[in-house]
Order: sequence, then C-alpha cells, then structure tokens
Amino acid sequence: MAADTATSKQNLVILGGSYAGLSTAHYLLKHVVPQLPGKEGYQVILISASSEAMCRPACPRALISDDMFPQDKLFVSIPAQFEQYSKDTFKFIHGTVTSLDHQDRCVTVSVKDGDTEKINCHAIVIATGASTASPLLGLNRDSETLRANWNEFRAALPTAKHIVIAGGGPAGVETAGELGEYLNGRAGWFHSKLENPKVAITLVTADSKILPILRPALATKAEKLLNKVGVTVIKKSRVTKVSPPGAGAGAEDALTANTTVTLEDGKVLQADLYIPATGMTYNSSFVDASLLTDYGRVETDPGTLRVVNGGALIYAIGDVGSHARPAVHNILNTVPILCANMKRDLLLAVQQDASVGEDRHFKEDTRETQLVPVGRSKGVGAFMGFRQPGIMVWLIKGRDYWLWTTGGLWSGKHWAKES
Ligand SMILES: Cc1cc2nc3c(=O)[nH]c(=O)nc-3n(C[C@H](O)[C@H](O)[C@H](O)COP(=O)(O)OP(=O)(O)OC[C@H]3O[C@@H](n4cnc5c(N)ncnc54)[C@H](O)[C@@H]3O)c2cc1C
Repeated sequence: MAADTATSKQNLVILGGSYAGLSTAHYLLKHVVPQLPGKEGYQVILISASSEAMCRPACPRALISDDMFPQDKLFVSIPAQFEQYSKDTFKFIHGTVTSLDHQDRCVTVSVKDGDTEKINCHAIVIATGASTASPLLGLNRDSETLRANWNEFRAALPTAKHIVIAGGGPAGVETAGELGEYLNGRAGWFHSKLENPKVAITLVTADSKILPILRPALATKAEKLLNKVGVTVIKKSRVTKVSPPGAGAGAEDALTANTTVTLEDGKVLQADLYIPATGMTYNSSFVDASLLTDYGRVETDPGTLRVVNGGALIYAIGDVGSHARPAVHNILNTVPILCANMKRDLLLAVQQDASVGEDRHFKEDTRETQLVPVGRSKGVGAFMGFRQPGIMVWLIKGRDYWLWTTGGLWSGKHWAKES
C-alpha cells in the first residue's frame, strides 16, 4: 500500500536524475524558489531510479574498461551534489516512478529497498529520458546495474572473434570505433582498411548511409575510419531476427550470448557478442497514454515545455519530451526557458497580476550538429551547419567524451547565473 507523503510544503517534483532533471533542480533552487513569495513553503523533490548521474555519451568507450575514464568523474552521487542547499528546500528520493496522476497531480514511487510512496505535487517536471536497447549504453536502470553489465561484457571480450553491432547512428558508430581501435589497432596511412583484424566487427544499418543526421561526405569519411580499425559496414539491411531472443538487450543470460543474427536479405551472421544500438524506448510507461505521442514521448509544447493536455503545472524536458531532438545541447538550451515559465506559473498561482511577465519560448536550432569520434584520435562532425575538422572533433568530444563538461552540470556551477 502506498504511504502518502504528507508535507506542509508545496512540492516541485522532478522525475529523473540525469542531464535534464539535475539541471532543472539546480536552476529551480538557485533562481526560481528564492524569487517566490513565501519561498520557505516550497521544496524541490528529485526522484530517480539511479542515485548516481553519469556522463552518458562516454558509454561507448567506458564500457571497455574502468581505465578509460576516472571513475569518480564518470559517476557522481546525486545527493552529494545537493548538499549545498538547505535540507528544507531539497529532497532526493532514490526510486522508480510507477504512476503519475496528472489530474490530481501526484506520483507513486517504488522506493529503492523500501515501500511504495505517494507524493502530492504542486508542480511536476517529467525528465525520465530514454532507454537504449543495449543496457551497456546508459542508465536503463541504475548505475549498479550498468556497471554489472559492463563487467559481464568485459569478461566476454577477450574470447570474442566476431562482434556484430546493429544501428548506424552515433551510438553504433562510436561503439564500433572504440571497440575496433581497442581490439585491433588502426591501419597505417597507406592502407584504406585493416586486413585480417584480430576481431572482426560488423556494423549493420538499415539506412543507405551511416550517421543519418550528417551530410553524406561525413558519413563516408566515418565509414572509412571504421574500416581502418577493422569494422565492416553493411548498409541497407535490417536485422530481422536474433537468436537467442533478447540477445544483447539485457534479457537474462543473453547479454553476452553467442548470437545468430539474421538480416532481411536472409544473410546470417554468427556473433560472439551482439550489441543492439538501435532506437530508443522513452521512459514514459508511468504517464497516461493520452499525454503521449505515437512514439511514446510525452507530448510537450515545443515552445513553452508544458505538457500538452497535462493540465496546470506539468512540464517535460530532455529526451522524454517531444519538443526537440534528443541531445544534451537541446537540454541545456531548454532549462532556463522551462524554469522561467514554471516561475511565471508558480507566481500566477499566488498572485494574479501582470508583473509576472510573458512566457519564454524555445526554438530548436536544427542546423547540422553532431560530433562523432571514431576511436581515440579520429572522428567526423559538424556544428551549427559547419563541418568540423577531425582535430576539433577530438578536442571537443573525442578526448574524453564530454567529461570536461559534466562536473559543472552535476554540481550546478553551470547554472550559477540566471539566463
Ligand atoms: C551512447 C550515447 C551517446 C550519446 N552521445 C551524445 C552526445 O555526444 N551529445 C549529445 O548531445 N547527446 C548524446 N547522447 C544523448 C544524451 O545522452 C541524451 O540526450 C541525454 O542523456 C538525455 O538526458 P535526460 O536527462 O533527458 O535523460 P537520461 O539521460 O535518459 O536519464 C534519465 C534518468 O531518469 C531515470 N529514470 C528513468 N525512468 C525513471 C522512472 N520511472 N522513475 C525515476 N527515474 C527514472 C533514469 O535512471 C536516468 O537516471 C548520447 C546518447 C547515447 C545513448
């Protein structure tokens, strides 16, 4: 039975503790709650299935070995990032949200190692992101499970002779590039591909080219870089069946199972390890179906970040929302807008006057922007429509997969100023 968390506070409840959830929590605590009349009456509650945040883009390299990144920077404790705020204003709940009643504005949480808790909310921000088919590429559950999955994969790696990766997007390309360089090294200047790699790696994509967001010339360059680390790319071919079912996708005993991979043209690949790097499942199963798009995203006003048909004081941000392409730069650009609109709504809930100002509106920058490392020193990419040289891709992303940026995001330093 759910225990009702009776509190005299107005709870501003954020669901999900990653890029979107942590940033929103810091921003509300720094720039919104202090500006509300009766500010002592508000409390920010952050609920997350994982008690640690992690630099998710680093997964394609981090999954290989703990030596790839300083682990204390890769994973950080969420409660520790909020010790800077008064205990009265912030609370972290380690648990999984199992239902959201948008009409009564309350959520039910299955608390880790505990009971079910029902929380009455004054405002709700849905920031529960998306899960990947492969449980090696993010916090599909929590950080302990991610580490356990990496350990299982690492134990199987030394005996693997053929690895098949499905998905030609950046996650698939980066994973193939990292594994290729780590296991096989890189062909010399005068060789267009690595002959007889120690471990054959096959990347399969249904598309006519890899990296759909980038222009064809960059996709071709990335494919050549992959060939140099022993990766063969199969295009225009979809994986139609894997045996055992659920191979590589976290089904019990199937993460590192020897896998028979069948392609739509009937071709069969035998893999010692199979990594499905295709598509995303949005973490929205606890949201009423009437608030979701056909793809399972929370239908979010692309300008204001309010949940469409959600009623008052319900918002979505990050990958789970339908307002923008799933990417960290879109989250960073939406946090100040979401929080400004929340502040406006919270003020209007207590005072009906024009001094609260107008809504702010987000406009996604849809220019070609994506950086894709292929191994530790090479890569392709474009930023705001401009092609970037490999050295820039390395400098900005390939060096440490954005780890240089996450310290300030997790601690809230990035949000020191209201913007
Ligand atoms: C391999 C890979 C590489 C990437 N590289 C880049 C890149 O280079 N640049 C870029 O801009 N983007 C990149 N992305 C995308 C980027 O990681 C996402 O845009 C970002 O992580 C989204 O953040 P989020 O906060 O919306 O959700 P997520 O990071 O998905 O986190 C969601 C959080 O919510 C928690 N949660 C889920 N369900 C519940 C629930 N029911 N109750 C409570 N908690 C829950 C999860 O445990 C998790 O902590 C990459 C993604 C992947 C998979």
